[in-house]
Amino acid sequence: MEKQKLDHYKKIILEKRSDLVRQLNHLKESGLNNSARESSGDHSAYSYHMADQGTDTMDREQQYMFASREQNYLYHLDLALERIEKGDFGMCVKCGKEIDAERLEAVPHVRMCVECKEREERLKR
Ligand SMILES: [Zn+2]
Repeated sequence: MEKQKLDHYKKIILEKRSDLVRQLNHLKESGLNNSARESSGDHSAYSYHMADQGTDTMDREQQYMFASREQNYLYHLDLALERIEKGDFGMCVKCGKEIDAERLEAVPHVRMCVECKEREERLKR
């Protein structure tokens, strides 16, 4: 792939990456605030907490799910950046063909072309 195109995708990936890092940091901070409030021993809020516990746990789980999914995404963005540096970015890891520009534009960290991806999905089922 041409240097100019690589730079273009690199920019997209870096933007997505910094957005993601910001979100993850925000998530971490709000998580810290929650546990700090709970361990402060404010008993007046206790009964309210008990009633609210169900949804509280849900939120915690959802936060966790979100964080691990985003972390996974971050990992793939980093891999894509590595592939840009190595020069094999935009090539399908299965068949070596160039991945659709449109596809890369939407999801710059994809590693497979549409055909290979579809074949893999079929095998999984
Ligand atoms: Zn392929």
